[in-house]
Amino acid sequence: MHHSHYDVIVLGVGGMGSAACHHLARRGKRVLGIERFDIPHAMGSSHGVTRIIRQAYYEHPSYVPLLRRSYALWRELETGFGEQLLHVTGSVDAGAPDDEVFTGSYDSCRLHDIPHEVFSSAELAARYPGYHLPSDHLALYQPDGGFVLSERAIVAHVVAAQAAGAEIHARERVLDWDASSDTVRVETDHGSYETNSLVITTGAWIGQHVPELAEVAVPERQVLAWLQPQNPEDFVPEHFPVFNLQVPEGRYYGLPIFGVPGFKFGRYGHLGGTANPDDLDREATPADETLLRSFAERYFPTGAGPTMALRACLFTNTPDGHFILDRHPAYPNVILASPCSGHGYKFCPVIGEILADLAVEDETKHDISLFRLDRSRKQLGAE
Ligand SMILES: Cc1cc2nc3c(=O)[nH]c(=O)nc-3n(C[C@H](O)[C@H](O)[C@H](O)COP(=O)(O)OP(=O)(O)OC[C@H]3O[C@@H](n4cnc5c(N)ncnc54)[C@H](O)[C@@H]3O)c2cc1C
Repeated sequence: MHHSHYDVIVLGVGGMGSAACHHLARRGKRVLGIERFDIPHAMGSSHGVTRIIRQAYYEHPSYVPLLRRSYALWRELETGFGEQLLHVTGSVDAGAPDDEVFTGSYDSCRLHDIPHEVFSSAELAARYPGYHLPSDHLALYQPDGGFVLSERAIVAHVVAAQAAGAEIHARERVLDWDASSDTVRVETDHGSYETNSLVITTGAWIGQHVPELAEVAVPERQVLAWLQPQNPEDFVPEHFPVFNLQVPEGRYYGLPIFGVPGFKFGRYGHLGGTANPDDLDREATPADETLLRSFAERYFPTGAGPTMALRACLFTNTPDGHFILDRHPAYPNVILASPCSGHGYKFCPVIGEILADLAVEDETKHDISLFRLDRSRKQLGAE
């Protein structure tokens, strides 16, 4: 049975939208989640089996309280779902001694009393033989880091949302919304709906649905590589912590073998430029592969065997790399979420909780001041 009036409609049921549907439905709200593609799918930002989760956070120490809540909610979700979604491997954040990937991670651990160890690159290689970092690099090791199964987690959030009464429509495309009266109207290619509050979690498409975000939440094409290691035992979750690594060629991230028979990694920024999610080259090219292989051959030489998979994906970047999580500037009952810039997935459940707070409560107990839309508009490049 389809109701045409809802307490909350969530546009886009990917990583963030699925979590929002769950957190709204468990509060007893009448929720509709509308997704343009399948649930899950490989057209947006959340596919490719795994996503890094870590407590050491060089991006900004104020993410740490949200991470702690996220870890607890991931454990709660997987218990209800009956499948492990969070795998702990430890995490490595490494770079030159004065590089922010190392120093920022170190500072976040010190500030928030997060257990950690510091290794030279030789000590790291002795403990984790897959790693061959430049000899002057330092690595911050944090034992709670690991990865989350991103597509399974979307399924888990949707299953939990449906069990709590949410209605979820896949293969239905949102065309427009209008919040000029007290009730928000949503038009799709299947029909029209009304809602008290609207949550917009359309990922790389958010600039199409919220023109105010088009300049400050900008899609970028990324490519993930999975290569077969010569010594697979050095690249299994038990022996290979997830990493963020700043080297002269750029900033890279990587994960152990899981789900695809290869160790997985990618480069922040990849080949650069901006992307149109409706006209994206989703097929990896030789240039993509060459860029990624040269990194692995240099820093993970025993991991750089035959290519097992290459997959294109989308980041949605803000100029300062922090999320957007706020009410619409003109319509307080419309909530905007662009938690990406390449590091948002690990926060899905806590962002679902925050979006539910903003949609149906006056405020959230979480500190989201870093994510306000009106934070230095200059910094966001909008002036
Ligand atoms: C290659 C890659 C690696 C990453 N690695 C990490 C990592 O290791 N750790 C980490 O924490 N984060 C990582 N991230 C970032 C993280 O994956 C994103 O922050 C997260 O997936 C964003 O989720 P989302 O819900 O905003 O987007 P999505 O999951 O893409 O969801 C948006 C949804 O909106 C739907 N939609 C769009 N338009 C419409 C419409 N008109 N009607 C209906 N539905 C619509 C889309 O189909 C989509 O399902 C990575 C991202 C990429 C691309």
